[in-house]
Amino acid sequence: MSSVNRRTFLASVTFGGTAAVLAACSRPATPTVVQTPPTVEPPPAGPNWGKLRSKISGPLYLEGADGYEDAKRVENPRFDGALPLAVLAAATADDVAQAVRFAGEADVPFVVRAGGHSYSGYSSGDVGQAGLAPSLVIDLRGLSGITVEDSGAAVIGAGASLIQVYDAVGARGRAVAGGSCATVGVAGLTLGGGVGVLTRAYGLTSDALRSVELVTAGGELLTASVDENEDLLWACRGGGGQVGIVTSLTFETVPAPTITTVFLEWAFTDAVPVILAWQQWAPEVDPRLWSTLKLLSGARHDGPTIQLTATWTGPSAALDAQVAGLHEAAGVLPLVNSVRPDRTYTEVMFTYAGCAGVPVDQCTTGDGGALRREALRHLPCPLRPAGRRGCRCAGGTVRARPPAGSHRNGGVAGCPWGRGPGTAGRLDRLRASGCLRHRPVHGHL
Ligand SMILES: Cc1cc2nc3c(=O)[nH]c(=O)nc-3n(C[C@H](O)[C@H](O)[C@H](O)COP(=O)(O)OP(=O)(O)OC[C@H]3O[C@@H](n4cnc5c(N)ncnc54)[C@H](O)[C@@H]3O)c2cc1C
Repeated sequence: MSSVNRRTFLASVTFGGTAAVLAACSRPATPTVVQTPPTVEPPPAGPNWGKLRSKISGPLYLEGADGYEDAKRVENPRFDGALPLAVLAAATADDVAQAVRFAGEADVPFVVRAGGHSYSGYSSGDVGQAGLAPSLVIDLRGLSGITVEDSGAAVIGAGASLIQVYDAVGARGRAVAGGSCATVGVAGLTLGGGVGVLTRAYGLTSDALRSVELVTAGGELLTASVDENEDLLWACRGGGGQVGIVTSLTFETVPAPTITTVFLEWAFTDAVPVILAWQQWAPEVDPRLWSTLKLLSGARHDGPTIQLTATWTGPSAALDAQVAGLHEAAGVLPLVNSVRPDRTYTEVMFTYAGCAGVPVDQCTTGDGGALRREALRHLPCPLRPAGRRGCRCAGGTVRARPPAGSHRNGGVAGCPWGRGPGTAGRLDRLRASGCLRHRPVHGHL
């Protein structure tokens, strides 16, 4: 579309207006009409992507170009329709710094992508409903190198996925307490805190963060550690990545624990006593025991089901005494009680990720990967028959570890019915609303 420059337009209007006023006040002897044709200018030029290209080593994919469709894909298929302005597959930290400087100079909005699991689709680079304009995506997945130093420190590229971390760090007999999903980015998880099966025993993932390399809003690459820029390191421990683009993270690791896992499943008709008992038991039990309670329904399950998955880092023989407290409090026994003792942390995390026996490079949702992308959305009413549905609650105090020692009280998270004395009433209301109901053949709650 041809456009008329706004200044030319205003000038021509002003000139015409002035002429008209003058004409009204003092008629010229010889009337002459001078008409200045409006200047038609070419459409405003887009960002000069060539300028960015000349400064980076990783590929830059523009809309419509080969590779754009693959490069723009995030983990949640809900955002497949996103059309970012461009995707830079950063190959170095300097690529990231160049992109930030370019975006500042050219006034191009940009977003960061590590694992691509943002629930709201922020790293898709185009989420109209969230008020995010089409942006340049700075994709860090190429920065996925992992080195475990003799000191036990693990230096991890910001594009590494959790399963890559478990695999590489576990190969050195060490562990970083992380989350459960194989393809979640270690950067996005850590910057948000990081909760997982070792949280009660070892703390949040961000507690183990010792330093980061990051690119500031001005495009400067710097280190944040306890020795320099400590305030930035502090902000990276749960602040959600607001202070810069982290390109590398250094963690203190722990000797990899040996793990016993437990799986329990009860009749759905026992859901109320089980939920109430678990909410009392889980936060207070030995901190070496982490558990998640799941209410699931949908196509993959024969009716609604209530399940518990637990992870124990103590001696396997001591586990029964811990779980006995739950059975006593619930007053009902599970239909399924399965214990698997003495596996490595890496094995357990591969199993939880759905990648048991799968090589790490295939534990992905990409081409040839063993995993499928899943559409996640908020369900106000979690237990209805269609689709894969449910809710999961995690329980227990997060271990207090310096420097973050306070504000860590035992509790449960993620349960639609909350915790405390009002739980039974809230369960009743969910039941009355139909949110905890299923096919009658299995009985109602
Ligand atoms: C299926 C699934 C399972 C999950 N399981 C767990 C779990 O077990 N434990 C847990 O704690 N959380 C879990 N989460 C939440 C997850 O940690 C967050 O959604 C996290 O933000 C995802 O990070 P990402 O790098 O994969 O996503 P991205 O979409 O790449 O990043 C999300 C946002 O984080 C910021 N960000 C990412 N990387 C950087 C960086 N290098 N520098 C600056 N900012 C950055 C950006 O703002 C970006 O928009 C889960 C999420 C999903 C979808």
